[in-house]
Amino acid sequence: MALKPPAKKVRMKEQEPQERIHNFFEVALGYSEREAMEEAKRCLQCVHHPCVSGCPVGIDIPGFIKKIKENRFYEAVKILKYYNNLPAVCGRVCPQETQCEAKCVVGKIPGSEPVAIGRLERFVADWEAVNVKDNQIELPENKNKKVAVIGSGPAGLTAAADLAKQGYVVDVFEALHKPGGVLVYGIPEFRLPKSIVDREIAYIKSLSVRILVNTPVGRAVTVEELLQNYDAIFIGVGAGTPKFMNIPGTNLNGVYSANEFLTRVNLMKAYLFPEFDTPIRKGKKVVVVGGGNVAMDAARSALRLGAQEVTVIYRRTEQEMPARKEEYFHAVEEGVHFRWLTQPIEYLGDEKGTLIGVRCITMELGEPDKTGRRKPIPIEDSDFVIEADTVVEAIGTDANRFLLNQFKGLSINKWGYIVADEQTGATTLKKVFAGGDIVTGAATVIEAMGAGKKAAYWIGKYLEGEFNPWK
Ligand SMILES: Cc1cc2nc3c(=O)[nH]c(=O)nc-3n(C[C@H](O)[C@H](O)[C@H](O)COP(=O)(O)OP(=O)(O)OC[C@H]3O[C@@H](n4cnc5c(N)ncnc54)[C@H](O)[C@@H]3O)c2cc1C
Ligand code: SF4
Repeated sequence: MALKPPAKKVRMKEQEPQERIHNFFEVALGYSEREAMEEAKRCLQCVHHPCVSGCPVGIDIPGFIKKIKENRFYEAVKILKYYNNLPAVCGRVCPQETQCEAKCVVGKIPGSEPVAIGRLERFVADWEAVNVKDNQIELPENKNKKVAVIGSGPAGLTAAADLAKQGYVVDVFEALHKPGGVLVYGIPEFRLPKSIVDREIAYIKSLSVRILVNTPVGRAVTVEELLQNYDAIFIGVGAGTPKFMNIPGTNLNGVYSANEFLTRVNLMKAYLFPEFDTPIRKGKKVVVVGGGNVAMDAARSALRLGAQEVTVIYRRTEQEMPARKEEYFHAVEEGVHFRWLTQPIEYLGDEKGTLIGVRCITMELGEPDKTGRRKPIPIEDSDFVIEADTVVEAIGTDANRFLLNQFKGLSINKWGYIVADEQTGATTLKKVFAGGDIVTGAATVIEAMGAGKKAAYWIGKYLEGEFNPWK
């Protein structure tokens, strides 16, 4: 009979909460070689490897873990990179608990944790960065066909890299001054160091992918130009338009959307002001509205900017909160307060138009709604005020219609997202494919990458004349 693996994952070292709230350095510190080999031994090398079906890019998980166990790290790198163009990113930010690790058989043994697939992926990618100087992959002969990719988030970067690996000429158009999408402007340094994103993007560029920054499609170049000059187009522009609650007082000084707050902190490095020239309000009493990962990132960033008190208010309870458990625990450890069943109804300001408080109302949970979650209902006369000099609204995002409206004949669904075939990414418009948040609405990095990967495969088939849904 096979030996039962140790019940718990090998622990990963972290910065202590009291130390890390004063800096933006990464919280989790990664495995050493010995720790990674130790964890790799917990994998049972299942023949049916259910973990692989939980990974949207289908990584050969037992394959790379076996190489780690055998101390053959370079071979692990090769396996991982074959499937995944951004492994150091995925190892850090993927919600493995609902994907590969949710399927791992070790996690099904009562009292046992699944194999730490994400931590091992991160280990391999970081090992490569330190130990492998020139990991050039050989590209096939140039096929002399050109593909335009709009947006350089995980969907666009993955599509671009996979198309380059097939021998196509790929130009990526990015509106911002840095490529990476949410990886650079949304997810903070303390979860995903930007040097790591830069390193993975350098790899993608080394595949001969050209990234044109400061180039919003629809302004700097037109949709007609792209349709004329390229053999195929992939749209991966994400869903980056913030939603607002639009309650009275939204225009007061001190009220931010999470997009603006996090873009200032992450992309513009406002936490290093005045060394970097973008300022940010360093609130002392900060309220964050929402219960997702974006709310956790905003709350934890506010603490690191020097806030004395950060309160997350969420209209449902801890149970319904969509944030990753790990992020929530980290926020609690760092001293973020949570107020459940609470909804802001008005922002209060002083005579200068500056925020001084948030009027909230208490909620109770009613019947389940369409999503199966119990609906929050306001309790009459239950309002109260929380003192605050800064509010960050993190209640979700929408698609930006500005670009999509310029693609004549592109079908958009009732929520404003592109209609694209789930298997191939083909849209209703000839030679145009799409994937990532602009198709699904706000989702995850690995799902966006999975969509980019599938689309790259079918774009290749289309360019070879083997696939044409528009006949
Ligand atoms: C704060 C935050 C934290 C998150 N944390 C996690 C996490 O921990 N784990 C996880 O899996 N997911 C997380 N997500 C979700 C994840 O980041 C997204 O699902 C993913 O980035 C979507 O990828 P994408 O390529 O579709 O779009 P994006 O990453 O949004 O990239 C789209 C890119 O297109 C560019 N663009 C837009 N319009 C144009 C135009 N007209 N021309 C040219 N370029 C254009 C944008 O500037 C952007 O760079 C988080 C999201 C946020 C906001
Ligand atoms: S399911 Fe778990 S134990 Fe089985 S191969 Fe995958 S990682 Fe290893």
